[in-house]
Amino acid sequence: MAHITLDHIRHAYGPNPQSDQDYALREIDHEWNDGGAYALLGPSGCGKTTLLNIISGLLQPSHGRILFDGRDVTDLSTQARNIAQVFQFPVIYDTMSVYDNLAFPLRNRGVAEPEVDRRVREMLEIIDLSGWAKRKAQGLTADQKQKISLGRGLVRNDVNAILFDEPLTVIDPHMKWVLRSQLKRLHRQFGFTMVYVTHDQTEALTFADKVVVMYDGQIVQIGTPAELFERPSHTFVGYFIGSPGMNVLPANIEGSTVSIGGETLSLDYAPDVSGARRVELGIRPEFVRIGREGMPVTISRIEDIGRMKIVRANFAGQPIAIVAEEDAEIPSEAGITFDAGAINIYADSWRVGRE
Ligand code: ATP
Repeated sequence: MAHITLDHIRHAYGPNPQSDQDYALREIDHEWNDGGAYALLGPSGCGKTTLLNIISGLLQPSHGRILFDGRDVTDLSTQARNIAQVFQFPVIYDTMSVYDNLAFPLRNRGVAEPEVDRRVREMLEIIDLSGWAKRKAQGLTADQKQKISLGRGLVRNDVNAILFDEPLTVIDPHMKWVLRSQLKRLHRQFGFTMVYVTHDQTEALTFADKVVVMYDGQIVQIGTPAELFERPSHTFVGYFIGSPGMNVLPANIEGSTVSIGGETLSLDYAPDVSGARRVELGIRPEFVRIGREGMPVTISRIEDIGRMKIVRANFAGQPIAIVAEEDAEIPSEAGITFDAGAINIYADSWRVGRE
């Protein structure tokens, strides 16, 4: 399996790109570790498929290089890059048996027949289709076909990486979690480098050890689910991850004092926001406390969603969401406080750290 380097990748579909807006990918410059499980997450049109196709070799980037273990593969085909791909819709041979579908990539690479047999049988067990080996793929259900697709990707244990493009979209909801946990187990067992495109945050967060969040042709953060939740590096990550998303409030900063409307708060550090056109404070609804004390809010709505309440309120002229315990009493004259350690400061949408 390979360590993947994305070296200053830019991509424009049209000729003569003039500005950033003409690029589907703007500047992608990252290292993805050997054996990592990366979920590529972002809204429709942010560039996930474009990036995946550039990694696989289906698309040549307008600028930049792709390296596998330090070797430049930018000009190599998908086959020469030795990558397995699993697409949204299963790509299998309908007229072949399940067994032959799994054997195909091995036979194609000249693996000896006894070894083909051993690996196919092992894979049939793993994807739970042993009883179906002789059946033609034609009459199988969409989940079974997608299991064959996954098996075909995984049966070759010599690939540099396995790329998945929303492979569970066609799967019944109740089967999704089965396949997801199977894939997670296989990743643990085989340790392949895996890149998994999805626009479903639950899928990404439960599944990957690193989530790559894309927005508007850029990677805005690569982090563990906890890092994305606690320290979103861009306001978009704050909105996109979590439900409800992070509150982002216009603020002014002088040293370590933050003003929001007429209210002031003290931080235990002085964020450097010099030169920023827009300064904002980010606080997740889970870290806003509501009670009788604190900065005054006007409550507009309370949504009881079972295990907790979501309070929608107006604070210093801005809407704010607050997550409260299910049995919390919300006074009509309420005030809020923020958990100081959970406050993030943003200058022109990017987080300003303590350093
Ligand atoms: P989705 O989740 O909807 O698949 P995505 O994040 O995978 O979206 P891409 O398909 O990579 O996004 O598209 C990124 C941008 O590039 C979009 O603005 C899209 O319209 C544009 N684009 C994608 N493919 C082409 C193409 N073949 N020709 C021209 N523009 C394209």
